[in-house]
Amino acid sequence: MLIAVIALLLSCSPKEKKSIESANYRVIPLPSEIVTSEGNPFVLSSSVKIVFPEGNEKMHRNAEFLAEFLNISTGIKPDITSTAPEKNAIILSIGLQNPNKEAYEIAVGENSITITGASEAAVFYGIQTLRKSVSADAKRIVFQPVKIKDEPRFAYRGMMLDVARHFQSADFVKRYIDILALHNINRFHWHLTDDQGWRIEIKAYPKLTVVGSQREQTVVGKNTGEYDGKPHGGFYTQEEIKDIVKYAQDRHITVIPEIDLPGHMLAALAAYPELGCTGGPYEVAGSWGVFDDVLCPGKEGTFTFLESVLSEVIELFPSEYIHIGGDECPKVRWEECSDCQARIKELKLKDKEGHKAEHYLQSYVTARIEKFLNNKGKSIIGWDEILEGELAPNATVMSWRGMEGGIQAAQMGHDVIMTPTAYCYFDYYQTQNTDEEPLAIGGYVPIEKVYNFEPAPEILTDKQKARILGLQANLWTEYIETPDYVEYMIMPRIAALSEAQWVKPEKKNYEAFLTRLPGLLNLYGKLGYNYATHVFDVQAKMIPNFETNSLDVELSTIDNAPVYYTLDGTVPTVSSTKYDGKFSIRENTEIKAMAIRASGNTSKVLSEKINASKAGYKPITLLTTPDPNYRYTGESMLVDGLFGNSTNYKTGKWMGFKGENIVAIIDMLEPTEISTAQIRNCVVTGDWIFDASEIILESSDNNSVFTVVSSQKLLDANTTHWSDIAVHTLSFDPVTARYFRLTVKPTVMPAWHPGKGSKGYVFIDEISLN
Ligand SMILES: [Zn+2]
Repeated sequence: MLIAVIALLLSCSPKEKKSIESANYRVIPLPSEIVTSEGNPFVLSSSVKIVFPEGNEKMHRNAEFLAEFLNISTGIKPDITSTAPEKNAIILSIGLQNPNKEAYEIAVGENSITITGASEAAVFYGIQTLRKSVSADAKRIVFQPVKIKDEPRFAYRGMMLDVARHFQSADFVKRYIDILALHNINRFHWHLTDDQGWRIEIKAYPKLTVVGSQREQTVVGKNTGEYDGKPHGGFYTQEEIKDIVKYAQDRHITVIPEIDLPGHMLAALAAYPELGCTGGPYEVAGSWGVFDDVLCPGKEGTFTFLESVLSEVIELFPSEYIHIGGDECPKVRWEECSDCQARIKELKLKDKEGHKAEHYLQSYVTARIEKFLNNKGKSIIGWDEILEGELAPNATVMSWRGMEGGIQAAQMGHDVIMTPTAYCYFDYYQTQNTDEEPLAIGGYVPIEKVYNFEPAPEILTDKQKARILGLQANLWTEYIETPDYVEYMIMPRIAALSEAQWVKPEKKNYEAFLTRLPGLLNLYGKLGYNYATHVFDVQAKMIPNFETNSLDVELSTIDNAPVYYTLDGTVPTVSSTKYDGKFSIRENTEIKAMAIRASGNTSKVLSEKINASKAGYKPITLLTTPDPNYRYTGESMLVDGLFGNSTNYKTGKWMGFKGENIVAIIDMLEPTEISTAQIRNCVVTGDWIFDASEIILESSDNNSVFTVVSSQKLLDANTTHWSDIAVHTLSFDPVTARYFRLTVKPTVMPAWHPGKGSKGYVFIDEISLN
């Protein structure tokens, strides 16, 4: 028994003994079945050979990958051969009988490791599992005997990169593909065209890249009106694209190109103004958002253009799917355009079922392009807006605005790829502490949320669920300029994504995932990737306790590292209080906590101010229903002493109400004197979130008859602020009462706003009485 190991131990100096490691098969994504057994391990030595079936070029390439991967982690680069030796062999083969063509098995014995797949791609995933089971800096590695059986849950496992907003070099695109491959992702959705740049060479329309790939300058920050004065541009030649497609193919990844139409086309219009309704002139956009100028479907030349472009695209991309966008296409130009109106008349399009004739005009464009592509043997994918009007007969829907579009499409018998913003938008912040982050578009998608995403909701029948081909995460790059920043935004959230894509729901477990994550992060480091380290930060659960009228604080880390904290605002050190289980807070306090690890993976300092007022942790009754998307933990969050730290209203600290009077009653438990009432409103007018218009405070001793204490009309004071936190304080002569009722009224949105005339959302984080 274990003779091989003992022999190896004897041949090492004492110092080297420690560096002998066993492979850990519990990698990310987690294989379906891992059965280890007793027996002599397989020892990876420099005499190991990788064996592939002779004449199979893809398997030869697989063998090369495995040799390269093992070399990175262990320094051993095995020879590759088609003749299996008696021992010391890693044997790659295909022919596994399994209806899932991406299924593979790994068997480890003393003399060999075999990876058998149902296809060459399947073997590649087996190779990825094997290489990830070896630690990033393994010196001497042994593999315990094991049988692994594995197959992915979803056939479509996607990741998108937007290169239109910020161009990325061909070399970086390859590096991005490597990152996808490491996570068993098999679809690379390449967003190649948008208002801010056209990035693919089209020989029939050379100005698309001569003019359309260049913008004069870029807006600073979030559409501030200030510009950087620096030209930005770039595109991929057809030769570069072929090279990238081949590079991805070698890694068993299909590249799906997106030509976003008929909206998001300003770059093309700048090059060929005759394709627009007004004829221009147009400019490649230097700011972000949705633009009114789109392709004119009234003109036949538009279709000639699209068909020429797509003819060249399909020559370059072997993918079955071509993504034709279809999102965010305003109809205002079409409404005014005589060509578009003539087309609507000719097609006898009418307003019906809540959609305007112009929506059906977009459906006509989509259906016509679909027919063109179907005739060339291709299928289309479109964003969920293609559901508005009539859905093209064979289209696959990419559901991004939520799950609803995907659910509807699946119910209609269409294929669906789920990519809702709330789980799959990696341009959103990954932490609540956005002050310390590089500028992002907003939102909040922490890794745990990505991990727990379930793309096939229970509302669907089994047959409809089968229409959910898979899921994908998207990286839009308005604010993401550099390769380093791209990597930071996708890793390690892509690790969580890969488990949501690969692992069956009953085998998913976030806590267990976290224990497997550090090994993968070490590999990221070895490969030189710039990954985010938020997972090493201290996590805090702060829960109002209405029995003790205080805030319960629980701190934790991914690896149970020692956590130190202070309550006086100073930065913790190893001499500070060591966290030793839940504690409670009643007073105004600033908590700072940090994990201090011997390994050096020190966390960022967690910092949270507790602003407990006399209303803090007192029973609160909300007589108004919050918007379900912004309800979070419910009414207790309005008296938890925690403020929203920024105007990012999706962090869970702001409770949102849709155009209703907010009415809350706080029971102070005993007659209590107060002389101020304060509320804080998060205002983001661009997202229809306005300040309150009026605040009324009333008091009562019996919770039935209330008397007005104070009120304030806000006179639209903040209706021109586009993004701000508005703090409102009512001050009055001291009043003593047991119950206080606060009413906060919404604002009717003003004439300059697209929502004019209806009531805005109101977001509040805390009600403070003092
Ligand atoms: Zn038109």
